[in-house]
Amino acid sequence: MENRKETRILRVDPAHPESAVIEAAAEVIKRGGTVAFPTETVYGLGADALDAKAVSEIFDAKGRPRGNPLIVHIASLAQGRGLVAHWPPAAELLARKFWPGPLTLILPRASIVPDEVTAGLPNVALRFPAHPVALALIEAGGTPIAAPSANLSGHPSPTCSAHVLADLAGKVDLILDGGPTEVGLESTILDLSRPRPVLLRPGGVSREALEAVLEKEIQLYPAVLQGVSGKNKEETGVAPSPGTRFKHYAPAARVVMVTGTPEQQADKIINYLAEHPGVRVGVLTTVENSSFYQAKGAAPAHLETLGSRRSPEEIANRLFSALRKCDEMGVDVILVETIPVAGIGLAVMNRLSRAAENHAL
Ligand code: AMP
Ligand code: MG
Repeated sequence: MENRKETRILRVDPAHPESAVIEAAAEVIKRGGTVAFPTETVYGLGADALDAKAVSEIFDAKGRPRGNPLIVHIASLAQGRGLVAHWPPAAELLARKFWPGPLTLILPRASIVPDEVTAGLPNVALRFPAHPVALALIEAGGTPIAAPSANLSGHPSPTCSAHVLADLAGKVDLILDGGPTEVGLESTILDLSRPRPVLLRPGGVSREALEAVLEKEIQLYPAVLQGVSGKNKEETGVAPSPGTRFKHYAPAARVVMVTGTPEQQADKIINYLAEHPGVRVGVLTTVENSSFYQAKGAAPAHLETLGSRRSPEEIANRLFSALRKCDEMGVDVILVETIPVAGIGLAVMNRLSRAAENHAL
């Protein structure tokens, strides 16, 4: 992958995207190029989902394993129905309730979807994003857009254009800068291709909200809270989901989850700092615990407050940029306070356990 590209950056109004900017980006998509663009979850790196060569550029730019399939972004239900072999009642129900929005549905694919997109799987992942820039780009491009997160494979997902630039400068054709993203974590992925729905990845739409609409319990894919799972079908009873096999969301520094009650977490962090004077430690804390460290005279190399325990949405929104910030500060270890796995807290803890590869204190 030696052909460095000239990466253009264009500012775009996130609420009312300028048509000239969208047209320029759509031109890149139409001629088989790659465009990073904001969605309500994180920035995506898009290419024409029906053009196998364009899609392969996404894998090259990210250094993404070809066995890890891509989510296809659509701008209407009709466009989505054209990409599947079967549209079950559950998909209709969920699409009507949560689309546009941070929910991805796995469905049997139509033959029009290239193997490169689905990694040869018989299913396709569909998402109808709720971001004016993403929607305008899909419409102007006149084609569904395959888009994983716009980061180097394995890195935390980008929540602003500076993160995209840091990872992908010289590797993509265009970056649309529409400011910071709203949710800050990727979409929820629900597999509807199996006899019963399985939550493959928690995200912007909570498991509880999905269960309320489907009026049944949704099975959690076993690896959701197990970090990178080496388990296979025989061990878990559920066929593996491709993305769970790969290291993900990880900054360069080692990430450690800090468990226990909020008070116990603070005590563990204070003790760790006292016992490791030579280690540059980053601490990602919550509002409730943040003053504790200063009060105890603890001085981590970098301290960042993610948000209040009463607002896990805020914590979700800041997590990835805080992990990147710790790398910028050159820390060796990042200690992260943990939160309950309710609502979007499940998505936060999923990303953390993956980033930490289950290292816990
Ligand atoms: P990312 O693009 O990095 O947000 O990752 C998308 C994830 O969606 C992948 O890692 C897979 O786990 C999942 N995914 C995409 N397409 C499929 C599919 N056809 N079947 C199962 N999982 C999929
Ligand atoms: Mg990703």
